[in-house]
Amino acid sequence: MRNIVILGSTGSIGTQTLEVVRANGDLAVTGLAAGSRTELLEEQIREFHPSVVCVFDEKAAGELAVRTADLPVKIVTGMDGLIETAAEPSADLVVTAVVGMVGIRPTMAAIEAGKDIALANKETLVTAGHLIIPLAEKKGVRILPVDSEHSAIFQVLSGERGNAVSRILLTASGGPFRGWTREQMKNVRVEDALKHPNWTMGRKITIDSATMVNKGLEVMEAGWLFGVPLSRVEVVVQPQSVIHSMVEFEDGAVLAQLGTPDMRLPIQYALYYPERRDLSGGRLDFRAMGHITLEAPDLVNFRGLALAYRAGETGGSLPTVFNAANEWAVARFLNRKIGFLEITDSIEAAMEAHRVIPNPSVSEILETEASVREFLNQRSKF
Ligand code: NDP
Repeated sequence: MRNIVILGSTGSIGTQTLEVVRANGDLAVTGLAAGSRTELLEEQIREFHPSVVCVFDEKAAGELAVRTADLPVKIVTGMDGLIETAAEPSADLVVTAVVGMVGIRPTMAAIEAGKDIALANKETLVTAGHLIIPLAEKKGVRILPVDSEHSAIFQVLSGERGNAVSRILLTASGGPFRGWTREQMKNVRVEDALKHPNWTMGRKITIDSATMVNKGLEVMEAGWLFGVPLSRVEVVVQPQSVIHSMVEFEDGAVLAQLGTPDMRLPIQYALYYPERRDLSGGRLDFRAMGHITLEAPDLVNFRGLALAYRAGETGGSLPTVFNAANEWAVARFLNRKIGFLEITDSIEAAMEAHRVIPNPSVSEILETEASVREFLNQRSKF
């Protein structure tokens, strides 16, 4: 029996991870963490019996402790609680499915404690990849990608040990506004941006997909996971989300992983790697599908993707600026405080104003995040 911890268990990836656990019956959940949604957490505790549970919000943690007083579970809170849960002694693997840079310290704590990581929380790798990848190597732990594109690349590379990659072809659906101009996107509402054509996901990543900032984050994530320069990571728009990504090798051969858009597949692959297991659900019907379309991304109208390449190629603290500005702006957009186009405008303004710190430490990354928020708060007053 393998023991796992799920950080972000009440979210889209977290609940689908628990579906995989439920369907297989040979994984034990020893720790869970969420932000504040205690009702669902209580149900999860009663079903999966973890020994430690973190609720980041202190008041909500207090409420959960009262509601679960009849159970042998330790309720912890805040960043210290998140770190304690991530390093839960009996766990073999930690699924990092919290949203945002809050994942940096618990992910590093889990690696320090020797746990394998099933990584969904891309913001952590984008901002602290230069610390996380060497730490994982030093500790001999595996970083198993959960993001469907990165899982696809990882699956392709699993049978290609030692062969040099010439290009990673990262596929993108293009989101709900594919083919639109900036002028057309000026007045899009939160409801429009939350309608992803192929995937049902958490609110933040759904907005990131609509701006294509998500693909920019994934380009940087791919650079860290597969050790390739970003000049070799190309984005290809594939609107049906059937090809999950491709790899081109030195001899020109291109290998891809295809499947229906179902996150349980990459989650299950990460949990059981290198073993494949049966998975219920739809299968591709190529004869009924008829065609798969492919096109180049529009870097003019979707500037977030171009800015991501600039951030990733510059490195140092600039990816943190890109990510922190995006987190600030997406939260404001979801609260209807700023317009859709102001998301990428905020990222660009923050990047322009920043003086890059090479090789930042965790505290420098967190200080950069705070200074970006402060800069954007000030800027939004004028
Ligand atoms: P959701 O918004 O659905 O879920 C986020 C989870 O994080 C919730 O459990 C939430 O708890 C928890 N959380 C938020 N803040 C904190 C905090 N401070 N401390 C502890 N837990 C916290 O997000 P998704 O599942 O969609 O995405 C999670 C990550 O996975 C993101 O990085 C995303 O980019 C990535 N990803 C997601 C995919 C998807 O299909 N959804 C695909 C590929 C990658 P609460 O419910 O209490 O707020």
